[in-house]
Amino acid sequence: MLIQGAGGNTSIKIGRAMWVKASGQWLIDSEDKNIFVQVDLVTGDMVYKEERILRPSIETALHLVLPHKIVVHVHSVNALSWLVREDACAHLDELLKGMRWAWIPYVKPGKELAAHVRARFEDSAADIYLLQNHGVVVAAEDFKQIYLLIGELEKRLGHTVPQATSLAGSIVVDFPKPLGWRLPKYDEVHRLAVSEPSRNLVSKRAMFPDQVVFLGEAPLVCATLLDLGESVRKYEACNGRKPGWLIIEGHGVIVPEEFSAGGEELLRCLARVVARVPPKMKVNYLTAESVGALLDWDAEKYRRSIELKD
Ligand SMILES: [Zn+2]
Repeated sequence: MLIQGAGGNTSIKIGRAMWVKASGQWLIDSEDKNIFVQVDLVTGDMVYKEERILRPSIETALHLVLPHKIVVHVHSVNALSWLVREDACAHLDELLKGMRWAWIPYVKPGKELAAHVRARFEDSAADIYLLQNHGVVVAAEDFKQIYLLIGELEKRLGHTVPQATSLAGSIVVDFPKPLGWRLPKYDEVHRLAVSEPSRNLVSKRAMFPDQVVFLGEAPLVCATLLDLGESVRKYEACNGRKPGWLIIEGHGVIVPEEFSAGGEELLRCLARVVARVPPKMKVNYLTAESVGALLDWDAEKYRRSIELKD
């Protein structure tokens, strides 16, 4: 619910250095392998440049602009389900009453985002930043405080009632798949095909950055089981590439055989986010310009390449 695959990033400042999660690495692996790199607190450069194997997180600048010892950035499902809504700001004042938080309108992750957070910190000294269509940043001086802040935030933003999550009996996934396609890892993803409000929300455009990076702008939506292979071929002819994933209305979701582990996590995140957005609610999609900026970004290409190596 908080972190999906390689998404999000955490850091701790010790002395003149900051340890930050390396780009493309999964936080869940942190106890088994070294996934953190050390950067200079002032310049942001890696302390040991020979450690070429790992690169500092895309959001390193964001971690550096906040003076707190610990900074945690997550793409929380509960937060995202609010942050994509057009009416988010109108509700957050009430939901987060008493917390020191600040709103950051959507900007490209990385340096631009860091500059906005720095400006907001200077005039608000907030320790929680809600990033429109993106996620949450929580900053504190010790782990206990971070833990409490995230817990409180999740409790307050989790007030929306998810639609029933059980899919029992409502899906039939033993339909023939086109060559090179398979079912996704998590069953709850089929909600995106079975629930009309969910399907409508995801079939237009993408709502948050990691959705674009790992799933593409929108799935191919097929109205029937007939001619799935033909629909995929037509899509490829028009777009010059395979669709990122595919929805068969009322039946289920299928993904390319080579779909990445990160893609699986993001697809489940997407299903969970839209299940928490009330039907007919207006959401903000990322603009074509924002999507283009994410797809063209070398830093994101690197992160995707790491994912494929796994
Ligand atoms: Zn992020």
